[in-house]
Amino acid sequence: MKTIVRFAPSPTGYLHVGNIRLALINWLFAKKNNGQFILRFDDTDTSRSQTKYVEAIKDDLLFLKIEWDKEAKQSDQIEKYDSITQDLKSRGLLYACYETPEELDFKRKILRSQNKPPIYDRSALKLTESQKLTFQNEGRKPHWRFKLKNSEIYWSDLVRGDVKYNTSNQSDPVVVRADGTYLYLLPSVVDDLNHNISHVIRGEDHVTNSAVQLEMMEAIEPGSSIEFAHVPLLQGGSGEALSKRTGSLSIMDLRNSSIEALSICSLLARLGSSDSVEAYSSMQEMILDFDISTFSRATPKFNLKELSNLNSKVLQKLTFTDISARLETAGIDKSDLDVKGQMFWEAIKSNINNFSDAVNWWNICFNPLSTIPLAQDLLTHAEASLPMEPWSEKTWAEWTENLKQLSGVKGKRLFLPLRKALTGLDSGPELKDLLPLIGRDNTLKRISGQIT
Ligand code: GLU
Repeated sequence: MKTIVRFAPSPTGYLHVGNIRLALINWLFAKKNNGQFILRFDDTDTSRSQTKYVEAIKDDLLFLKIEWDKEAKQSDQIEKYDSITQDLKSRGLLYACYETPEELDFKRKILRSQNKPPIYDRSALKLTESQKLTFQNEGRKPHWRFKLKNSEIYWSDLVRGDVKYNTSNQSDPVVVRADGTYLYLLPSVVDDLNHNISHVIRGEDHVTNSAVQLEMMEAIEPGSSIEFAHVPLLQGGSGEALSKRTGSLSIMDLRNSSIEALSICSLLARLGSSDSVEAYSSMQEMILDFDISTFSRATPKFNLKELSNLNSKVLQKLTFTDISARLETAGIDKSDLDVKGQMFWEAIKSNINNFSDAVNWWNICFNPLSTIPLAQDLLTHAEASLPMEPWSEKTWAEWTENLKQLSGVKGKRLFLPLRKALTGLDSGPELKDLLPLIGRDNTLKRISGQIT
């Protein structure tokens, strides 16, 4: 059977790292199995779904290079849901209920006070036609519940192993609201069947939904088989739940702080699995390594510091060819890049935390810069001992060795003033690599305090 999976966000907010992790796991699973990845918008909640979130979700996925083979949205499928609910109603599997939210709340309170689980008592099933008519004449519109079989449901979960759940532990779920709009459960099953989804991979908050949805599947398309994998939800660094509504750790924020897409994916592909986190240099490598069976039931935590460390490692692995177009987009002249780009990238890549640091270092190396010039004594000797060009990575040692002899200054007292004079900063990439980039003219100007 062909592997077909889906990522099904509700467009009610921006994606956070927890949502993206599920998109990524689905995508990697599809790619690993030469399958398809469907992006489906669960937008039946018309009051909260917004087009701007649909667009933002697609932007985030594209930024992360999680591309979809097919796009769908539930609001296009209402007729299909209508015809299936019609059929389920005629078979007595959906039944009309007339209780108001207050009445339901009251029933639940009573059950709780008797120490009983607040499960719906199915009193709507006992209504006579004339009672229903009375409600309708009062202006009440029915909501519809799916009649559970109260059976023991089993499945072999790709992450949780054998799962058993008795649907008598819960109320018959409401699937159609009184205003005729659909809740998530039924449309999702209809779509999954329609798209021939082979594996539903989602958060463990959906485990009980899966039991209910398996009953619905059996009612709609007997004999259908969809496999499930429920992964534990990602938590924030201090163990807090992530939520779209509170905007926690949105991908947009990470993009704005110039974290590499590849770093985000490298981390999310491994969090919660038994394999350690790796700085991947391509999505292709990530696909090859992906194995859903390495995911465990332990709750993974997302830590920004870990992401930022990984970001440095990911950048270090990129070649100049990987990065040159982006340097150009950031405003660096192509002809300059052709001449100096390769050497520049090799010099700085091990010392940057994010891409914008690279642009800063380009400016430091090649543009006019105001630095902290050398003190007069040291300056005289530094000028006198500065080798003639051409320069290589050996020039630094040659210069500083002579300078040490001439001035009698050594160690940090020599190197720190030189670094500040050359770069304006007290840390950064190795000076032996930077010096040939800065060149003799600019070196002389910077150590003596001439800016241009
Ligand atoms: N729209 C649902 C959610 O965001 C999808 C769950 C599922 O994957 O079935 O939770």
